Amino acid sequence: MRQSRLFTKTHKEDPKGELSHNAQLLVRAGYIHKEMAGVYTYLPLGLRVIDKITTIIREEMNAIGGQEVLMTTLQDPASWKKSGRWDDNVVDIWFKTQLKNGSELGIANTHEEALTALLLDHVSSYKDLPVYIYQFQNKFRNELRAKSGIMRTREFIMKDLYSFSRNTEEFQEFYEVCAGAYHKIFQRAGIGHLTYRTYASGGSFSEFSDEFQTLSEAGEDTIYLDEQKQVAVNKEILNDDILKKLSIDKDKLVEKKAIEVGNIFPLGTKFSEAIGLRYTDNDGKEQTPIMGCYGIGLGRLMGTIVEVLSDGKGIVWPESVAPFQFHLIRLGEAAEVKEKCDRFYDTCQKSGFDILYDDREASAGDKLHDADLLGIPVRLVISAKTGEKIEYKKRTEESASLVDITSFIETATKSK
Ligand code: ATP
Ligand code: MG
Repeated sequence: MRQSRLFTKTHKEDPKGELSHNAQLLVRAGYIHKEMAGVYTYLPLGLRVIDKITTIIREEMNAIGGQEVLMTTLQDPASWKKSGRWDDNVVDIWFKTQLKNGSELGIANTHEEALTALLLDHVSSYKDLPVYIYQFQNKFRNELRAKSGIMRTREFIMKDLYSFSRNTEEFQEFYEVCAGAYHKIFQRAGIGHLTYRTYASGGSFSEFSDEFQTLSEAGEDTIYLDEQKQVAVNKEILNDDILKKLSIDKDKLVEKKAIEVGNIFPLGTKFSEAIGLRYTDNDGKEQTPIMGCYGIGLGRLMGTIVEVLSDGKGIVWPESVAPFQFHLIRLGEAAEVKEKCDRFYDTCQKSGFDILYDDREASAGDKLHDADLLGIPVRLVISAKTGEKIEYKKRTEESASLVDITSFIETATKSK
């Protein structure tokens, strides 16, 4: 893509009234646009990141047997009334709307009710289970506070998976498999080294749920971490009884701020019972499926990556989620430089490289400054000074080196 054609511009100043570091950087670099407090649009660069994150999550969910669907945002109150969660006093983040005839509709904040009701048409026997169903879908939540940029918004894309198992053992087994998939996702997204499975409050069916917490001062949560054992406990549930139960030594715990990038939650039969989802087991007896839910906020994850990996100059994307792998910068307007750079860009395109080409007529200072702000993993510079070579620099490193164009193309083709 030629940067001169990209409709988004970079900004020198932090956006006014934006308190969070992730949104400041992402707005300045032109990845996102703030519509209003807690509501952001993803621009071409931002959408490329979201797409990369989506692909990682989709691959890992498919690998554990997930089947993808796309459910609706408009929801029938009927199933919510069955679960007792239609009431605004029970769920305090509801957005609701109305039909012309005055009857109410829900605007989805989650999909346990809707999916369980959907399965009434498809599940009746033990042969139909287990099933693992997921989607990437917009959720709407009337969050009280929206000060964390794209990490807490009132409209956001969530990957939500729901498991329906025949018994507790089958459920438990999948729950652990999914926890393993979450570790892989966060590893692949470049934040695995900072992300800990954390004991959190479990609701009515299980003592615990599990959060995946990424260490960051920008986090809204406080966790207690035992680094040696690689376990953590959310402050919300920390007490002497719990520590004893988990055989965690209080003295080994360090208090840390963290961001909940994902969570997995045992639901028991709360929703299957309420909605009336049953199956007949192999003895012909009626049973109620055991459920679990497994969420990851895509914007939350993208914002977290920005929070924990950026530096003083801008964003530092891991290769796996970067909008482009290479950022080609042309320094100088001389005809021969332009020609050389265009030719190199063509070769890269023909080789199928994921490359952004800064062909804008701007100062060297501005271009290099923007390259750091955008955070694409590899910067390639062509100028009057680079001769028949290109200057190659990783975003994570300070030093650049001159490399041969043919050997660059060869190496980049191999590592594609
Ligand atoms: P939190 O405690 O942060 O409000 P939650 O317990 O409401 O999260 P879930 O309802 O289980 O979270 O949602 C699953 C995942 O969706 C979370 O782990 C997080 O990654 C993401 N998420 C939740 N709320 C938001 C939001 N308002 N904006 C962006 N992502 C969110
Ligand atoms: Mg919440």
